[in-house]
Amino acid sequence: MDRKDYRQWSQAAAHWGSEYLAGQRDHRVRARLEPGRFLDMLPENPPDAPEPMAAIWADFQRIVPEGLTHWQHPRFFAYFPATAAPASMLAEQLTAVMAVNPMLWQTSPIATEMEIRMIDWLRQGLGLGGHFVGVTHDTASMATFSAVLSMRERATGWQSNAQGITGAPLRLYASAQCHSSVDKAVVMAGIGANNLVKVPTDARWALDPERLGRLIAADIAAGFRPAGVILCVGGTGIGASDRVGAAIDVAKRHDLPVHVDAAWAGSAMICPEQRVHWEGVDGADSIVVNPHKWLGVQFDCSVQFLADPTDQIRTLAMRPDYLHTHGAGEITNFSEWTPQLGRRFRALKLWFVLRAYGLSGLRARIADHIRWTEALAGKVDAADDFDLVTPPMFALFSFRYRRGGEDPDILNRRLIEAINDDGRIYLTQTTHQGQFVIRFSVGQWDTQERDVDFAWDVIREIAAGLD
Ligand SMILES: *Cc1c(COP(=O)(O)O)cnc(C)c1O
Repeated sequence: MDRKDYRQWSQAAAHWGSEYLAGQRDHRVRARLEPGRFLDMLPENPPDAPEPMAAIWADFQRIVPEGLTHWQHPRFFAYFPATAAPASMLAEQLTAVMAVNPMLWQTSPIATEMEIRMIDWLRQGLGLGGHFVGVTHDTASMATFSAVLSMRERATGWQSNAQGITGAPLRLYASAQCHSSVDKAVVMAGIGANNLVKVPTDARWALDPERLGRLIAADIAAGFRPAGVILCVGGTGIGASDRVGAAIDVAKRHDLPVHVDAAWAGSAMICPEQRVHWEGVDGADSIVVNPHKWLGVQFDCSVQFLADPTDQIRTLAMRPDYLHTHGAGEITNFSEWTPQLGRRFRALKLWFVLRAYGLSGLRARIADHIRWTEALAGKVDAADDFDLVTPPMFALFSFRYRRGGEDPDILNRRLIEAINDDGRIYLTQTTHQGQFVIRFSVGQWDTQERDVDFAWDVIREIAAGLD
């Protein structure tokens, strides 16, 4: 394919894309699971001779859609959403064409300056204090890893980067509801999984601040070195949130930095009435929110807010001669804030989305999702043969089906497999207090109230038909 053919194929792609999106409800949500099926469709060896674009295009249409689990499907109620608003798709198309790498300010000043401005727009949209600045990452995992690395470096008196961790073990604290990316960050940082202390939670599955204080004090007495606290707002299992303000007070009494993982639920803070769920968050040192989950700014776009970026830059900035920038002193080189050097021009899709829908449009959509979730949870709770296990938190609840004397774990595993094989909707599960539960999460860009109602019809129909 030559440059001169770009227009033709780009138009074909745009045509295909709009048809694909318009026809989403006709697809099974989850792909049929037949391991190796697509490997068999792809030749074992790469082509030696160039192939015409028409042949590649035909194979794309023949092979790819069938192998997808359709993440933008309005009846995708699994995991958490990974939304892509139409304006975001357009921005990503343009980003692909420009193909810049804004690793330094001078390698595309507009990308850095737009990122600074968009992070501040988002900060205002979420109601965060004016002292926060921030940076985009690919994923929340990387934001949390960055926060943990900077906790490590600070706790060792800025020695661990140079010497590795020497002396008494470091300790980090997080709720038992925190995401596995926290465990992974602690492992990758060389702190050791056993030094991530999982603080017991209270009756609402929030980290218990009193216990946090006692655990920190006991660790200090035992000769450990506490390095930081990681809080969760909208945990992945059931949507639980820690009592952020109270936990930050405890951490600050011990001079510990606090990172808040609000990867999913952070987007909901665009609705002022949701902000009670992270009350006190302005006292955090670092907060991660994924606009690529629930705000329509498609993957990848994770935003880390920082009260003061100095510690993270001191931890992560490398300044070899070949990256030296000349001239302006007041510039930001975002690659000094992150583990990666190369980075994508993510601010463009934030700019398109925040303008195309406005804060009011984004707010209305999320408020609808939360309202529909609460309404459905009410129906599940009222049904004789279903139990609401955890109440709606943001736009997530969990439930179980109940029948005669059958083992509920086995029954619900069979139910979710039957639902996902059927394909009209897609749900996933988790383990809650030792029980197998089905999660119901609303948040797709194109989901409408009728899709949520339809899901309840499908769940009951398939449950009733289980043999
Ligand atoms: C999704 C999620 C993550 C991980 O997000 P990635 O961007 O895929 O790394 C972490 N924490 C919470 C609470 C999440 O919902």
